[in-house]
Amino acid sequence: MNQKEKMVKLAVNGGISFGAKLNAKQLAVISEYMNDDDELEFTTFQQLYIEVLESKVELVKEKFKEVGLSCYPVGNFVKSLRTCNFCKGAEEEGMPVAIELNKRIAGKPVPFTVRPAYTGCPIGCGEPLVNDIGVMKVRNGYDLYIGGKAKGMDAQTGTLLMEQLIPEQLYEVVEKIIDIYAEHGKKREPFLKFINRIGLDNLKNQIAG
Ligand code: SF4
Repeated sequence: MNQKEKMVKLAVNGGISFGAKLNAKQLAVISEYMNDDDELEFTTFQQLYIEVLESKVELVKEKFKEVGLSCYPVGNFVKSLRTCNFCKGAEEEGMPVAIELNKRIAGKPVPFTVRPAYTGCPIGCGEPLVNDIGVMKVRNGYDLYIGGKAKGMDAQTGTLLMEQLIPEQLYEVVEKIIDIYAEHGKKREPFLKFINRIGLDNLKNQIAG
């Protein structure tokens, strides 16, 4: 019997840089691993979804990495950081901090998909206030919002949890929040529901503890 091989969905983007862009080489390499009638899905989170044969996943990841593409799992994981275009310059807008934060959290397994967003100034092009976890660089510090929601009739902006963090504090707090959610969230419980269930004060105590 001709058993069909399982397909695995990968989320792909060009990594954190000046905007969500791909170059011609990257596009060419992606298309090498697609058949003529395969489709790419554009998501609202600066990722492309591509389906590849399960047996080719590691090879594809390697080939994509060689041309600067980043691959992430799809499903109940922390998504790669959505960012702004860093229009005022990489250093001024904290691009290295965004890259490091993304490295630490993207792809971590969680009860339900977590959308983190980063923006380099209060203009907020990365839309941090309407995502689960939002970071906004304000002057020389990093303000952290949680519980934003862009979709649905109950859409809302996030709550300012901590302000003017230095990079190490930011990494530590965000990683702790994700660990707490991963450990105590119910299966498929969205991040905002989890925050509402346990309460902000409780969360702050757990972060401090
Ligand atoms: S958030 Fe600020 S720094 Fe980033 S792209 Fe928008 S205006 Fe530029």
